[in-house]
Amino acid sequence: MWFFSDEQKMLQETVRQFAQTELAPKIEKLDEEEGFNRASFHKMGDLGLLGITVSEEDGGTGLGAVAATIAMEEMGAVDASTTLSYLAHSILCVNQIGTNGSAEQKAKYLPKLISGEWLGGMGMSEPGAGSDALGMKTKAVRAGDSYTVTGTKTWITNGPVGQVFYCYAKTGDTKRDLSSFILSSDMPGFSAGHKFKKMGMRASPTSELVFENIKVPATNRVGEEGASVRMMMKNLDLERITIAGISLGIARASIEVATRYSKERTQFGKPIGAFQQIQERLTEASAWYEACRALTYTAAKMWDEGLMVGREASMMAAKAKLQAAQMATQVALDAIQILGGYGYTKEFPVERYMRDAKLIEIGAGTNEILRVIIARQMLGSEVADALS
Ligand SMILES: Cc1cc2nc3c(=O)[nH]c(=O)nc-3n(C[C@H](O)[C@H](O)[C@H](O)COP(=O)(O)OP(=O)(O)OC[C@H]3O[C@@H](n4cnc5c(N)ncnc54)[C@H](O)[C@@H]3O)c2cc1C
Repeated sequence: MWFFSDEQKMLQETVRQFAQTELAPKIEKLDEEEGFNRASFHKMGDLGLLGITVSEEDGGTGLGAVAATIAMEEMGAVDASTTLSYLAHSILCVNQIGTNGSAEQKAKYLPKLISGEWLGGMGMSEPGAGSDALGMKTKAVRAGDSYTVTGTKTWITNGPVGQVFYCYAKTGDTKRDLSSFILSSDMPGFSAGHKFKKMGMRASPTSELVFENIKVPATNRVGEEGASVRMMMKNLDLERITIAGISLGIARASIEVATRYSKERTQFGKPIGAFQQIQERLTEASAWYEACRALTYTAAKMWDEGLMVGREASMMAAKAKLQAAQMATQVALDAIQILGGYGYTKEFPVERYMRDAKLIEIGAGTNEILRVIIARQMLGSEVADALS
């Protein structure tokens, strides 16, 4: 990207090499067995990737959204699953503590999360509250200097393997009475419930989190009681920008495999790349990828420059993720088509790319919800709510 700084270009090169040496050799087996690449998180810690958006004074690298998106694209091009777990850790958990936590909370949780000794995640979604996240039922009831937290979260990335979770719970009766708590897996009453078997992102463990009357010290509440809706929405914007980076990575890898194959595979006495229908798929894929790349990094750059605030930010983040996610699924499907029979087998990685890409059209806000966000901003809530 034309506006990457020298520091960002160096990061890109470092993460590209890390992905090749650390992630590439392991992902096929992990995808097959639904495993988890825990060891690589320690190495990400050594490289300063786990606190990428956290300020240097809080122990992070303070590099921001463009840098985080670069890391997502580079790792996502090789192993989208581990990258999704990296996103849950670094953006949904570590960034939230770094942005909103008290000095004591940062001192207690960030060092081990940033080194990779602990793994983090975020608990928002529930069995009855996915797109309608504010409809969540998990409750935190205060008594003295602690809260009793009860409820069930679902689809939680790193649920079965994490130690620290940034979780949202209701502290009142209205939809907006939302508070944030740092929960840890060693708190009595905390358990990771059902682990899901998934079609893609199989090396990123996903499970329920079950809270049975967990006694949480009030000092683990992040921010003021009942003041978390804005914090949650702002983090969702950053999640959408950075997860779009994973889509970019998947698309880039799909295009690389398909381009190489189009030059090597011969039919009717010619490389298949000589056929106009193959060229159309390749060229459209490449152009759509570049357009999404420009949009995503522009959104990330605007985030870093403080140019995105409130609903404007949400619309920009929604546009980037909506386009990048759809683009990556279609481009991975096109790569499968270009590879013919081989594309449909595990001899090539494009079938994994397609399975992984599809998740990004669902997680962090479905395509439909992102369109609702954009429509609200374009048409105003009165008209757009009537549409949705
Ligand atoms: C692998 C994976 C990892 C995840 N990781 C996390 C995590 O770490 N933490 C976390 O909190 N959550 C996580 N999620 C949850 C994810 O954010 C939700 O799946 C997502 O928000 C959609 O919610 P839902 O699955 O309940 O679908 P639903 O909300 O039930 O939606 C079902 C369908 O209805 C559509 N729909 C809903 N409302 C509207 C509307 N108003 N207009 C039009 N269409 C609508 C949706 O777009 C979708 O097509 C993860 C999910 C997956 C699959």
